[in-house]
Amino acid sequence: MARAVSSFKSGDQLSKRSIIAWRTVQFALWLAGATILSCLLFIPATGTLLFWNILIPLAPLIFVVAPGVWRNVCPLGTTVLLPRHLGLTRKKRLTVSQSSKLNLAAVIALFVIVPLRHAVFNNSGHATAALIIGLAITGIIFSYFYEWKSAWCSGLCPVHPVEKLYGGNALMSVPNAHCSQCRNCVVPCPDSAVNINAVADAKTRYQQISALLITGGLPGFIWGWFHVPDENSISSLQTFLAVYKMPMTGFAISLLLYVLLQKNIPELYKRTLHNIFAAAGVSFYYWYRIPSLFGFGQFGKDGLLVNLQPFLPAWSMIAIGACTTAFFIYWLLVRKPNNGSWLVRPAYSKAA
Ligand code: SF4
Repeated sequence: MARAVSSFKSGDQLSKRSIIAWRTVQFALWLAGATILSCLLFIPATGTLLFWNILIPLAPLIFVVAPGVWRNVCPLGTTVLLPRHLGLTRKKRLTVSQSSKLNLAAVIALFVIVPLRHAVFNNSGHATAALIIGLAITGIIFSYFYEWKSAWCSGLCPVHPVEKLYGGNALMSVPNAHCSQCRNCVVPCPDSAVNINAVADAKTRYQQISALLITGGLPGFIWGWFHVPDENSISSLQTFLAVYKMPMTGFAISLLLYVLLQKNIPELYKRTLHNIFAAAGVSFYYWYRIPSLFGFGQFGKDGLLVNLQPFLPAWSMIAIGACTTAFFIYWLLVRKPNNGSWLVRPAYSKAA
């Protein structure tokens, strides 16, 4: 695996050993994903704990530090790309305009789906399983028609906008363990762009709107999301819509702030502004999520993994929050840009 990670440059072919190593990890993670999905269906309490309180809380940290590794081993990505690996897809090319529209749809899907966690998903293994299966079927259909990651992993997947926002300074570039040859199917390819920046890499109008919504809106949206309790039963449309109120209020405030700042700072500082909002988003997430995982959340057992209240003082959560915030500020704002991409672009296909 060492060769699979280090000293790999654009156009290099993965050795047989590296391919076997990556396929082994992909299969292990896919198996773990399938196990969680089975738990969601058959032992829902365990499934929701594994999915919402272990896997999902790790995701933002992975997107910041090692987005390329995640892009290689994400179980949903592996499922969606399996038909392409087997040569069973139609390999069509999306136009830049079509792929930009998919990016915007992904951002909208993210902001629609995430508040529904409070209304439905956090307390229902079956609903969560239906969501995952629905996303997988959609991804497979899109990837059946369109080349490699263009339609799903770099297109309509609702997690992708978050990867793009947080993943601007990855620890290292790793080889691309999915695309055997580059068909230039998505421009710019988020896997192959150096120090990806949701705003700077947005060229078309749809890409610019997507970048604005995710960069400006996500920090406030996250803040608002953590101020809503989980509903055990949705009794009316009003209760249902209430789960959107705080996240969308936070979204609107931070988006407004972002737009005002962006319009009034020199071009030179726009990347820094993007990184400040990225750091704010991920820092808010862990500021609230870690206390709720360990029994210090403001809504009782919402999001609880293990109750450490009897063993830890309340100030320990503030100390941990300060450390995670300092870490993300360092990583996204202070640390030197790595001048690398998430993944090393494979050799171009002659047909590209
Ligand atoms: S590396 Fe090439 S083939 Fe793979 S997703 Fe990016 S542009 Fe498409």
